[in-house]
Amino acid sequence: MKKLLQIQQMIYNRSDFKILDQKVNNKPLIYFDNGATTQKPQVVIDAITHYYETINSNIHRGVHSLSQIATEQFEAARRSVQNYINAKHTHEVIFTRGTTESINLIASSFGREFLNPGDEVLISEMEHHANIVPWQMICEQKGAKLRVIPFDENGVLQIELLDQLITSKTKIVAITHISNVLGTINPIKLIIDKAHSKGIPVMIDGAQAVSHEKVDVQALDCDFYCFSGHKMYAPMGIGVMYGKEEWLNKMPPYQGGGEMISQVTFEKTTYNELPFKFEAGTPSVGDVIGLQKAIEYIQSIGVEKIAEYEHQLLHYAMQKLEQIPGIQFYGVSPQKVAVISFNLGTLHPYDVGFLLDQMGIAVRTGHHCAQPIMQKFQIPGTIRASFALYNTKEEIDFFIEALHKAKMMLE
Ligand code: PMP
Repeated sequence: MKKLLQIQQMIYNRSDFKILDQKVNNKPLIYFDNGATTQKPQVVIDAITHYYETINSNIHRGVHSLSQIATEQFEAARRSVQNYINAKHTHEVIFTRGTTESINLIASSFGREFLNPGDEVLISEMEHHANIVPWQMICEQKGAKLRVIPFDENGVLQIELLDQLITSKTKIVAITHISNVLGTINPIKLIIDKAHSKGIPVMIDGAQAVSHEKVDVQALDCDFYCFSGHKMYAPMGIGVMYGKEEWLNKMPPYQGGGEMISQVTFEKTTYNELPFKFEAGTPSVGDVIGLQKAIEYIQSIGVEKIAEYEHQLLHYAMQKLEQIPGIQFYGVSPQKVAVISFNLGTLHPYDVGFLLDQMGIAVRTGHHCAQPIMQKFQIPGTIRASFALYNTKEEIDFFIEALHKAKMMLE
């Protein structure tokens, strides 16, 4: 407890997030829906406003001053991302709209070039739909098959089945770093090493990881790593697809248009070099600058410190939640982030979520875009509370009280 309070004082930065300082349904807002999106600190909001007030201009194409400043800032942001994930080259960082677009880019481009009838793509049973459907779509087009690594009743991947599931037909392994429902941190380094020992590339869905874990793509040696800005205190509509240079050079462009070309004639088009080959059209420059600010914000605190603090919140909440009669948890891996999925007996998660909202508490209810997990547990959905650096133990206390009240009202 003492430790919790000390850490809390160290990084407790709630005043950076004005949105939290309001009432919802006449109650002080408690925002526990950080797995869906995090709130944005004032420095990020200010950076976007500043961009539109003083710099707004299209990049890469203009000789005029504003265009050059915008281009410089855009490319500086790319270097910040490179530094944040420790990519070897700046041009291995491709800006997208988010994790979903990053995965679609890889599935479509890698799949077109490297998948053939009878080939296999290996994913896991705990994937978000964003890491299922794009692979299903390309598998259907190419006559390839999707194979799935199952997880056990605790929400831990059954890694012992990997040798069986990676076959001579496997062309790529696409796996989530951290489950958005179970909170499980997967042993991705082990999976990457195993796949590489058989010459198979690995894509990591890092949507839930980048603001909770130090990510080092060179140490991991992953071939692709995807994430969204909005889950790491940055704006919506901006994300990253990291890919190793050697793969990106071998893959065809995803979208055609301006910026991604070298030369266009009606007979033939040649493509631009990396990273531009994968960045057709006008990018969201203001949001890229916002992402850079969010990275600076996280770095100013330290992602390890954030992770440690969130772990304290997780343990504090779990100790209290475990005392609620009839509570059922989904995802109790020892390797876990502060994402708690649960149900209260037979109460429908929507009913509980609705009552919590009446008490000012924002949680997510439903299938969390991971229906196969719900099918595995044979439930319609869960209640999910997910914490970020601005949450507090006092909020957790209030949440527990509110759950007791909701339970009494609904039972
Ligand atoms: N993968 C995981 C694990 C996620 O949690 C999410 C967002 N909930 C996504 C992918 C998709 O991210 P986005 O909607 O930002 O593209």
